[in-house]
Amino acid sequence: QPTIGVLAVQGDVREHVRALELAGARTLAVRRPSEVAAIDGLVIPGGESTTMDKLCRIFDLRDPLVARLQAGMPAYGSCAGMIMLADRILDGHRDQQTLGGIDMTVRRNAFGRQVDSFEDDLRIRELGPEPVRAVFIRAPWVEEIGDDVHVLASVHVEGTDHPVAVRQGNLLATSFHPEVTGDHRFHQFFVDMVRHA
Ligand code: GLN
Repeated sequence: QPTIGVLAVQGDVREHVRALELAGARTLAVRRPSEVAAIDGLVIPGGESTTMDKLCRIFDLRDPLVARLQAGMPAYGSCAGMIMLADRILDGHRDQQTLGGIDMTVRRNAFGRQVDSFEDDLRIRELGPEPVRAVFIRAPWVEEIGDDVHVLASVHVEGTDHPVAVRQGNLLATSFHPEVTGDHRFHQFFVDMVRHA
């Protein structure tokens, strides 16, 4: 059984821990560098990426996390977590850094302030025929991707498809929050990725 860390400096940590445990993983809340060394995979929750970035640096987690990501540790980021896994961001705060890993540019709060949150049903072939209920909360979207990035789902806005679920190798990211819907297929998919990594 793999041990999956949930970055626990800020955000909806508990919901991810619960979803991962229901998907059959052991979990560890990650707050210190020694814990980064003890995990087989990492989930970065939803929350506020600017705060998460600051706290990662204050708690000396940034460098060990970047090192493990570069060495191929599987990771899954939802919403703010997607931003943390992006190599490039638009509309970031001044000085905002990401951990990086996925060759993509994400736009923070992309859906606009007038639609802070909304839900949509997405078809994601990798998760089977049943659509996935996607909950977006001040969500980013993916603006541009490199050749190695595989798009799992997109949302159509004003004539353009914007990727909202992507995978690059062992890294997975969604603009939305599967941890709040009670449908644990995304977490199951990630746990299987970690098992086979
Ligand atoms: N808007 C947040 C950010 O920029 C993300 C929102 C979320 O994780 N629900 O980090």
